[in-house]
Amino acid sequence: MKVAVVGTGYVGLVVGACFAETGSEVTCVDVDAGKIERLTRNVIPIFEPGLAEVVERNQREGRLAFTTDLAEAVTDAAAIFIAVGTPPDEDGSADLTHVLAVASGIGAHLAADAVVVTKSTVPVGTAERVRAAVASRSTVPFHVCSNPEFLKEGAAVEDSMRPDRVVVGADSQRTRDVMTELYAPFVRTGKPILFMDIPSAELTKYAANAMLATRITFMNEIANLCEKVGASVDAVRSGVGSDARIGPSFLFPGPGYGGSCFPKDVQALDRLADEVGSPMRVVSAVHAANEFQKTRLFTLTEAALGGSTTGRRIAVWGLAFKPQTDDMRESPALVLIEMLRAAGAHVVAHDPAAMTEARRRLGDAIEFADTAYAALAGADALVIVTDWNEYRHPNLDRMRTALRTPIVIDGRNLYDPARMARLGFTYRSIGRRSA
Ligand code: NAD
Repeated sequence: MKVAVVGTGYVGLVVGACFAETGSEVTCVDVDAGKIERLTRNVIPIFEPGLAEVVERNQREGRLAFTTDLAEAVTDAAAIFIAVGTPPDEDGSADLTHVLAVASGIGAHLAADAVVVTKSTVPVGTAERVRAAVASRSTVPFHVCSNPEFLKEGAAVEDSMRPDRVVVGADSQRTRDVMTELYAPFVRTGKPILFMDIPSAELTKYAANAMLATRITFMNEIANLCEKVGASVDAVRSGVGSDARIGPSFLFPGPGYGGSCFPKDVQALDRLADEVGSPMRVVSAVHAANEFQKTRLFTLTEAALGGSTTGRRIAVWGLAFKPQTDDMRESPALVLIEMLRAAGAHVVAHDPAAMTEARRRLGDAIEFADTAYAALAGADALVIVTDWNEYRHPNLDRMRTALRTPIVIDGRNLYDPARMARLGFTYRSIGRRSA
């Protein structure tokens, strides 16, 4: 099947490459000419495990192509995926400018009976706006479809190849047939393709992300409470997560969620609910609680340093919003660094994958260290923001020796408080007693 994917970012590139991997002929389109030129040479713009191999193989075998020419990609495609960004606008609603611009561009070049699929995360009602935008330029009959994406950055290829489920909002048999054929190779182990009406599919994506964000935030607040009442969040988490109705995943407390999805999707759902007069008070509270949680590492650092970070040298391990990605959108590290700098601290940071992105965002506002240990040299404290594997089992003696004062603020609860105390560290983590 011929497929076009418009928008070659974290979602579009992965989804396009994975469709090609199962035999579809895929053309990926982007307005970023530099990105497209690099992709034709197999230079991958993002850090995503396993992606380079899939792109390289499928491009070599002629199933995957990259272009800036929308017409070239769309003209004979049976399915056209819109996978461009939907960033928050000033009030937190999803900005549909890119989605609707692409839709009207598609309309001018569409083949009869093509299915225009919205892959981007968009509010309920967007498919109808896409339909109108396509129709404004189209002279042939076509179909619209909502097919939200659930991949996780850092495991995107694996998630795309083996999804838990595929959600498809469709209102025609042609759409159901095309989507069934396209996704059949991905659900061979019996995972479902869930066909539903279009508004339900659009809402499913926001409901899933808001529920995950709520779980994280709930545990963050339980962790904060643990610190006040002398409980340990590790014990509470295993006690709670052993309940089959609750389950163990997504219960680890931390410095607040970030990334390109949870923050914006929680806000967009909140706005949508307000607009239709069905306010979601839980979702509003999740957003506010997460904003607070993102300030906690700074507060803990300040307290551990006797009330002020002014003039201090602070090492930061981890800049990406989570491990296995270079994505720093809404990363808690950005809030921490901003607060440290505003307080007059000097920041020296390390991240295994996100340093290029951090340099682009922060320039020379902070110092970058080539290795995790180099960041510690002469620092007054270390703050751990991202739980990269290489930070999980470091040489603690070497850490203590490198730091000017052995203070560790651990936003990911990577180490045992009793051991850290024995080794002479002042150690603070989230929701756990200091030994
Ligand atoms: P991204 O910013 O990484 O990529 C978007 C791409 O679209 C960019 O390369 C940009 O140049 C391109 N683009 C913008 N306007 C264009 C146009 N008119 N024509 C062609 N290309 C255009 O975004 P992303 O992270 O891939 O997210 C895309 C969508 O998928 C968003 O709605 C997001 O919410 C959703 N989503 C993202 C994830 C994730 O983990 N990143 C997961 C699920 C869903």
